Amino acid sequence: METGIETLYQLSQIDSQIIKLENLLKKLPQEIQQLKEESEALISKLEHVNNELKKLEKLKKEKELEIQEQEDRIVKIQQNLDRVKTNEEYKALLREKAHIEELIMDIEDEILQIMEQQEHLEKEREEIKKQVEIERKKIEEKIKQKQKELETIKNKIQQLKEEREKIKQNISKPLLSKYETIRQARDGLAVALAQDGTCAGCYMIIPPKLYSEVIKAEELFTCPHCGRFLYYESK
Ligand SMILES: [Zn+2]
Repeated sequence: METGIETLYQLSQIDSQIIKLENLLKKLPQEIQQLKEESEALISKLEHVNNELKKLEKLKKEKELEIQEQEDRIVKIQQNLDRVKTNEEYKALLREKAHIEELIMDIEDEILQIMEQQEHLEKEREEIKKQVEIERKKIEEKIKQKQKELETIKNKIQQLKEEREKIKQNISKPLLSKYETIRQARDGLAVALAQDGTCAGCYMIIPPKLYSEVIKAEELFTCPHCGRFLYYESK
């Protein structure tokens, strides 16, 4: 007698494929999002260097302004030198002038250091830029791939669902409804293989008498532990 177990098994194979694909489908948008974030992180790395460079440029301008101010002071001292009457005043002004000139030299040193830092950072920026270009291209490629994968999986699920509908035609309504009940209660898997005396759905031992009945396949049997239909695959 035809019990329909083979058809049920076929149906459950399709259902488990659909489950696997749907799980993949759930993960893909997250993976795509993650890739987009990676790409943004690269950009912010570049922005960080750009900001550092801006800060240095600002600092350099400030230092240049300081030099300007000190030079203005020297000009004034120079004018005063022509007007002073005593030797003491004259000497004091010359000392002040010398002091300011030292100050200017110090600031010029600082500016040189800033310029070295700028040069260093600019090189780094070029490196990062190149790296970002390469990495972003790779990431974009990966995103495209994932999107393609997403479409492929969607199509495959559609195909499987159509196949499922066809197979369903060959199963009686009461049996199909029992199948659906078990499927919903048992993580989408309503038919389990009976292998080596064990139910492959719940990994529990099938009583030996029942197991031999399952092998004979003259009737439909369910696992006494998990309630799934048992199917023995004859080799
Ligand atoms: Zn079981």
